[in-house]
Amino acid sequence: MVVSQVTNHASRVTLHESRFTSHEQTMSRETLTLSPELYEYLLAVSLREPELLRRLREETGRDPMARMQIAPEQGQFMGLLVELMGARQVLEVGVFTGYSALCVARALPADGYMVACDISEAWTSIARRYWQEAGLAEKIELRLAPALETLDALLEEEREGQFDFAFIDADKENYSAYYERCLRLLRPGGLIAVDNTLWGGDVINADDKSADTEAIRSFNRMLQTDERVTLSLVPIGDGLTLARKRG
Ligand code: CA
Repeated sequence: MVVSQVTNHASRVTLHESRFTSHEQTMSRETLTLSPELYEYLLAVSLREPELLRRLREETGRDPMARMQIAPEQGQFMGLLVELMGARQVLEVGVFTGYSALCVARALPADGYMVACDISEAWTSIARRYWQEAGLAEKIELRLAPALETLDALLEEEREGQFDFAFIDADKENYSAYYERCLRLLRPGGLIAVDNTLWGGDVINADDKSADTEAIRSFNRMLQTDERVTLSLVPIGDGLTLARKRG
């Protein structure tokens, strides 16, 4: 009996060690590639999406441009970042139907405040309906104008250095211009999050010479050596670049 237990134990150890070895060989020093099943698992054990956000995501999912909406786990991650920073004043460049703004606004303190930039009346009317329902409409100032105009207006209003957090997720050709303005509007230690920096993988597709793809490539290359920020490209969603403004 005792012998048999020892044998079983020994074989379990061997099994465990062999699994550990294979895990080490394949995954320990690189970002894990998520299979659909592993992605489902990630959502199942960590996504805490409120019913209102789920309804907004589902309503947006019926829009032909639904791919412009961020992934729910990314929204949750951005909410965590904002909470972690204790951010009070935040910027959003590119609202679409308001999912990301809602994720961020929920994480703001009572006196928190967001300036949200977009040009689409139609999409932001969906956003406003959900912000209202969430009781967060008061916190979000929507400016319907080209975002460069809004960011320049904020600079003219002497808001330079006042914002804690900015999320850039609008037309890709203007990414560098949005980034430069957001960097000025941020306080030292503030964080810029930039969406779609892996661009569905097309950043490494040499055949793709489209203006959007080239703009993201040149933006990514510029950031790599931008000493004004501390940098990380987080492979969540479609790639989320985090750049923290140095003091
Ligand atoms: Ca996006």
